[in-house]
Amino acid sequence: MAGAGGNLEQCGYKYPLPRSARVGLMPKKRKSRGRHKGGKGREYMVQCDECGALVPRSKAVRVTRPYTVIDPQLARELRNQGAIIPTYKVTKTYCIRCAVHRGIIKIRSEEERKKIESLW
Ligand SMILES: [Zn+2]
Repeated sequence: MAGAGGNLEQCGYKYPLPRSARVGLMPKKRKSRGRHKGGKGREYMVQCDECGALVPRSKAVRVTRPYTVIDPQLARELRNQGAIIPTYKVTKTYCIRCAVHRGIIKIRSEEERKKIESLW
């Protein structure tokens, strides 16, 4: 069988490279791969407050916003007159689709995408 054409150098390496060799060659859309888990393995899933989708914790967008029971325009008027209006902090979890739809995060250009910056 020697020299029958079964040599790797002769016919070229036609099989896909192992995963360890492909890492540097693969295109990377985002520096963080769209998550913030780093080198950590699997993590638990959280539910989107908008659509109910199950997303990994590091992929979800969490927003904490002050919330008042009173209408914001009325609350501003009352605050100007010296009233103290109680505000509560409400934390919500969104999947990426809902966060983009609600304008919490925006689709960024190719160069901007590589930057990691705080959203709020
Ligand atoms: Zn959602």
